[in-house]
Amino acid sequence: MKFLVFGLVCLGLALAEEPFHYDGYKVYQIVPRTEEEAYYLKALTEEPGFDFWAYPRALNATVTVMVPPDVQVGFENDLEAKNMHFEVLINDVESTIRDEDTRQRMSRSAARGSVSFTYYMRYNEIVSYLTTIADTYPSIARLIVIGHSYEGRAIVALRISRGTGSNRPEILVDAGIHAREWIAPPVALYLINQLVENTANAYLSQDVDWVIIPSLNPDGYEYTHTNTRLWRKTRTPNTLCYGVDPNRNFDYYWMVAGASSSQCSEIYAGPRAFSESETQALRDYLHANSQRIKLYLTFHSYGNYLLYPWGYTSALPANNEELYALGVRVNDAIRAVAGTTYSIGTSTNLLYAAAGGSDDYAKGAAGVELAYCIELPGGGNVGFNPPATSIWPIVQETWEGIKAYHDYIRDKYA
Ligand SMILES: [Zn+2]
Repeated sequence: MKFLVFGLVCLGLALAEEPFHYDGYKVYQIVPRTEEEAYYLKALTEEPGFDFWAYPRALNATVTVMVPPDVQVGFENDLEAKNMHFEVLINDVESTIRDEDTRQRMSRSAARGSVSFTYYMRYNEIVSYLTTIADTYPSIARLIVIGHSYEGRAIVALRISRGTGSNRPEILVDAGIHAREWIAPPVALYLINQLVENTANAYLSQDVDWVIIPSLNPDGYEYTHTNTRLWRKTRTPNTLCYGVDPNRNFDYYWMVAGASSSQCSEIYAGPRAFSESETQALRDYLHANSQRIKLYLTFHSYGNYLLYPWGYTSALPANNEELYALGVRVNDAIRAVAGTTYSIGTSTNLLYAAAGGSDDYAKGAAGVELAYCIELPGGGNVGFNPPATSIWPIVQETWEGIKAYHDYIRDKYA
């Protein structure tokens, strides 16, 4: 098979100032039934242009892939020749993005410095909210800049603490390392909102400190708002294509599995480990505070998974039982709200091997015993991103899970 979409992939580079449109892009769902079918789909993950929203991972597990118009006929012919059944989940990605954009405009209402969960806030609005919180509640919340993005945006964090003493356990939370996963930052913002502004939750920062980074990849995030909605990586220019997958860029068994050395790949691990200033910022924060950090949570989307290390190997971590049992508690708390359930397990065993992730690094290199990568719910039949109307239910149910994490950390360490 031959797919000549290389030029398309890099179009975003040539037309960096023009918004990218997804006219005619389709999203397919395929369930591999045999090893041969799974192998065919796995081979496609190396083809530029094929954007996997759910990677091939096991027989009978649904694969979701976005395909540009110029290779759809060849792709469908291949599938039919192999007798592989497929369904079209989205017939025209551009129309779903236009709908999302319309809803965004309609519900954009937050006053400067406030938070909203009816639309996806821009980076400047997020920073403005964190600044306002730090100014309004100086005895509880403090703004920290942990580093800067390639384009010079501050990577901001909010430290929340109502206690005293230096030996308090800390929970570190980040969101938005993958730019297009828009539902992740609101989860972090809701956490800030509830921990600081809702006095009924004051007990949650009495014995435990929180550091929350709502937008770890702000260049990529802004680019998804202004140019290419489904951009995933950072915005570092490389010779052929822009960006590195920051969640393949951490220096813990870097590049050993599930990462690409091809610049234009969505899972490009970078020219070297920690090539990106965004991953360096998190690395430095982790090491400077590794004695205190008892739990690390990194929010992604989508798929309803509570994943924990390892991502580089199928071997289980020494504290697998504890990680699994805590995942069950969190899942129970989330499910009690509206029935949403998550699958729990190691990244490699539940999904697929992917080395260089931040959770592997936090646990393996920075010594944070409890680390989770949380894949939030997706958008159902609109695919990757939940509509803005889904932000509220998702942040509220996830909050219950985060409280379960807190209770465990408090009981164990405080
Ligand atoms: Zn992600």
